[in-house]
Amino acid sequence: MGARCRKLTAAKRFFTALRTQSIKTLYAMFSDVEGAKTITISTPVYWFPSSLLVAKEQLIVSSLKCPQCGSQALEIVTQSVLPPKTSKYPIGGDQFICKCNNCGYQLTVNIVFREPEPTESALSDFDFVYDSLLNAYSSSMIPNYFNFITTLSVILQDFRNNDPEDLYKILDKILNDLSLLLASLEAKSDQVTSNKLKLLSLLISELPEDDFKYIINRSSGKIRHFLQLLRVRA
Ligand SMILES: [Zn+2]
Repeated sequence: MGARCRKLTAAKRFFTALRTQSIKTLYAMFSDVEGAKTITISTPVYWFPSSLLVAKEQLIVSSLKCPQCGSQALEIVTQSVLPPKTSKYPIGGDQFICKCNNCGYQLTVNIVFREPEPTESALSDFDFVYDSLLNAYSSSMIPNYFNFITTLSVILQDFRNNDPEDLYKILDKILNDLSLLLASLEAKSDQVTSNKLKLLSLLISELPEDDFKYIINRSSGKIRHFLQLLRVRA
């Protein structure tokens, strides 16, 4: 029990550090774009093709503000690929032509692929995508559960195929988040927390058998009971 708590705390600290780092990097990337016609953002590619990268690109573009009016209302009009710079990936990146729904301004966003720095990890990108999706979906009155589960399940499959070691760190994170959500719902019940709990519960209930077993074996007490109820059909 003690060892498990220590492990969870260490995992939490690890993910908090990653989260802080990824947010800082993002702020640096998105600052100083007033009046820009083109924004170029480089992103590390850990494997290719990657559904993690696709989700990250969509989130980056949707988080950008219009360089003319400042509203977060950019809509992707067309998407194309950039020519390859090295032989490592078949394309050099993606290009998004966006139009502001508020003032009509047109902005080109180039997302250029590059090799990861030694300090970067696919987990950091996962963290950014997972947190952004969980926050976005849980803030709707009725979350689109299907889209959330589909997107994340495909990304987890991506990790399983390309970076299985990190998949287990992700499963630890999901279990840790589930425990925190269950504890905070006991203290006070609010819509966003209960939506997050539903989203994560459904994601866990759809995990492949081995991953579900991994999570349930690392849980105990109330959490374990909660997880067993999720999987009565199994
Ligand atoms: Zn605008």
